Amino acid sequence: MSIHYTTGTTQSLADAGDFGARAAAAAAIAAAHAESVDREGRFPAEALEALRTQRLLGAAIPIALGGEGASLGALADACYALGRACASTAMIFAMHHTKIACLVRHADGDPTIDGVMRRIAAEQLLMASSTTEGNNGGNVRSSAAAIERDGDHVILERAATVISYGAEADGVVTTARRAADAGASDQVLCVFLKEDYTLERLSGWETLGMRGTCSAGFKLRVRAAPEHVLAARYQEIHGRTMTPVSHILWSSAWAGIAASAVEKAQAFTRTAARQAGGQTPPGAVHYARAVSSLKQARALIAAALDRYEALAQDPAALDALDFQTTITMLKVDVSELALAAANSAMRANGLAGYRQDGDFSVGRQLRDLLSAPIMIHNDRILANLSTATLLAPVAASLRA
Ligand SMILES: Cc1cc2nc3c(=O)[nH]c(=O)nc-3n(C[C@H](O)[C@H](O)[C@H](O)COP(=O)(O)OP(=O)(O)OC[C@H]3O[C@@H](n4cnc5c(N)ncnc54)[C@H](O)[C@@H]3O)c2cc1C
Repeated sequence: MSIHYTTGTTQSLADAGDFGARAAAAAAIAAAHAESVDREGRFPAEALEALRTQRLLGAAIPIALGGEGASLGALADACYALGRACASTAMIFAMHHTKIACLVRHADGDPTIDGVMRRIAAEQLLMASSTTEGNNGGNVRSSAAAIERDGDHVILERAATVISYGAEADGVVTTARRAADAGASDQVLCVFLKEDYTLERLSGWETLGMRGTCSAGFKLRVRAAPEHVLAARYQEIHGRTMTPVSHILWSSAWAGIAASAVEKAQAFTRTAARQAGGQTPPGAVHYARAVSSLKQARALIAAALDRYEALAQDPAALDALDFQTTITMLKVDVSELALAAANSAMRANGLAGYRQDGDFSVGRQLRDLLSAPIMIHNDRILANLSTATLLAPVAASLRA
């Protein structure tokens, strides 16, 4: 089985400057509506319309299928820009493009999956993600619902605990057990478009933050052609694409949210210093911590992105414990650093930061970032990592 990687820039039509300008234009619209999206817990419709207008939803689809072959780096930059503007929009963009990456890299030339990608690019379709199911929590490598045959079709009935923007999406990419008699970890990845499924709402999304992701619970009922199930084993997709791309794009969105909090701390600290006749306010130490946490997060993301792009053509290296450790820990570390940055920003700004109104408020950023350590719980990731690394030798020298 071959894997089509387009993380590098070689196949990219999208001019980096042009792509950045289009992302910035969408981010400006997202920023203008971020407060009402958060307050009303509503889908960021204006921002999504802007992403469609800028043709950013299909940007990562290969050129041959009507997209631009945008690089993962360009998408990460866009997530950061959107995160500074509206956390929910950034996370929606990150989740959508994680699903697209799975299709792009593992479709293996299948005409049905290629057809879906053509439609995503041409119609700027928004794709949701369904991995969390029943009582399984964030255990993505275990599925309860199975793909079953029904004549010429496959059917799937899934109790999805949360599907972000499920009601607004044009399609869903979901994990499932391969067949009724398959084990929980013998999974496949499937892509379905709106005409292939129905959603019955099971629960709402009244949360502290990330309120615009509208991540309600649904019963997902699918009836579709069997070709909508990717031939590749999910185990491979998970380690080589799903985890790396989601962790890089989520982290970029979280870093963007943190950057917006740091910006507010900088503005407050400058104002306080001006008012004190040029003297740095005592709270500036927290501003310094906020800057440092953000810089560390950005450095980790940049390093992970470089590493992934370098190894992208080498499935064995991607599967190796070394890379898997780096890429899983990226999510754990950046989620905590981004939250630490926003927390420091709030302490730098004092009451002005704690207030929900005013120019120096960082309440929204802090609430949104509280989702980061629990979006696939860091405890779960660390527990899995400790099991995986227990038998591996500890490095004997510094640079080996
Ligand atoms: C903003 C947002 C958007 C989301 N969007 C989607 C979406 O679109 N689609 C989707 O499928 N999911 C989505 N999710 C869900 C997400 O992917 C995780 O599945 C979910 O956050 C896990 O939640 P949980 O705390 O209920 O479950 P768990 O992961 O089960 O965690 C619950 C508790 O159990 C502990 N725990 C459980 N297992 C272990 C273990 N093995 N080792 C150590 N501790 C453990 C944890 O510490 C934690 O305290 C979203 C989540 C968020 C926050």
